[in-house]
Amino acid sequence: MVAPGAQTRNRTTMHQPPDALLAPRFTGPRTFARLPNLRDLAGAEVAVFGIPWDGGASFRPGARFGPEAVRSASGCIRTYNPVQKVQVFGSLSCIDHGDAPTAPGYIEETLARIASFVEPIAQAGVIPVGIGGDHSATLGELRALAAVHGPLGLVHIDSHTDLWDRYNGLPFAHGTMFRRAIEEGVVDPSRFIQAGMHGTLYGEDDDLIPGQLGVEMVPWSELETLSPAGFAERVRARIGDGPTFLTFDIDFVDAAFAPGTGTPEIGGPTSREAISYVRALRGIPFVGYDCMEVSPPYDGPGQVTAVLAANVVFEFLSLIALQRR
Ligand code: MN
Ligand code: MN
Repeated sequence: MVAPGAQTRNRTTMHQPPDALLAPRFTGPRTFARLPNLRDLAGAEVAVFGIPWDGGASFRPGARFGPEAVRSASGCIRTYNPVQKVQVFGSLSCIDHGDAPTAPGYIEETLARIASFVEPIAQAGVIPVGIGGDHSATLGELRALAAVHGPLGLVHIDSHTDLWDRYNGLPFAHGTMFRRAIEEGVVDPSRFIQAGMHGTLYGEDDDLIPGQLGVEMVPWSELETLSPAGFAERVRARIGDGPTFLTFDIDFVDAAFAPGTGTPEIGGPTSREAISYVRALRGIPFVGYDCMEVSPPYDGPGQVTAVLAANVVFEFLSLIALQRR
């Protein structure tokens, strides 16, 4: 019995969406891009999964429904990326691996459960691609990937540094997890670059935090003067050849284009500009990816934030397809 969407080619399993010219894109269960929903990793090169979690949110909740909304919006995604000139589905074997387990109200337990969910994916040589969920969940992914690959480089695109020490006097939240990742040794600050920071802060000292932790921070005011290629050059120089994770917080994008998020900021990039920075990262063999902070209850008409996030994830898959073909 071959799972729906699994097609046999050259005697190896090729997991891909059903042909949209035979089965309309609004049909079938809402998996990411209509991929087969499989817990078995056999034959997969990429496992897309949801992280339904908002227990780390400091302002608006709702990101627990992010994976569901992004999956719904992703039905419109086709198979070929004409900007990157790469066939994604049909070339790269992809599955929707379901959702990481979470426990509402229990952030430390949830981080452990996310790590336990992601580690076997990485052990199997499959690339994990997470859909959040508030950004605190990324710490679980980083722990799992560091357990397999060793300390990671990190490319972090966001309006916020997420390097604060405490929220409400406590160590785990969606504004603190990258400081924890450095303290735990799962991220190497010398291979950590973050870009896009804008919005209000708690004081002028906040701008000094990345430097104090040995992290390279490129604020939006500087990033907007760089071409996407110039940004990619900065990234390559920072991360070198070691294992690296790419994390994209949807609140990097101007709230006019991404209102459905936990801590919206204004004055940032358009969706077109934002995606060009992701596309520029071609050729880097990231060991994992995530797109975080989609909060559907605050999304606008047309689910613009979820549509954007679905396309960001498709750009991740395009980068993987370019890397592997
Ligand atoms: Mn953010
Ligand atoms: Mn963030």
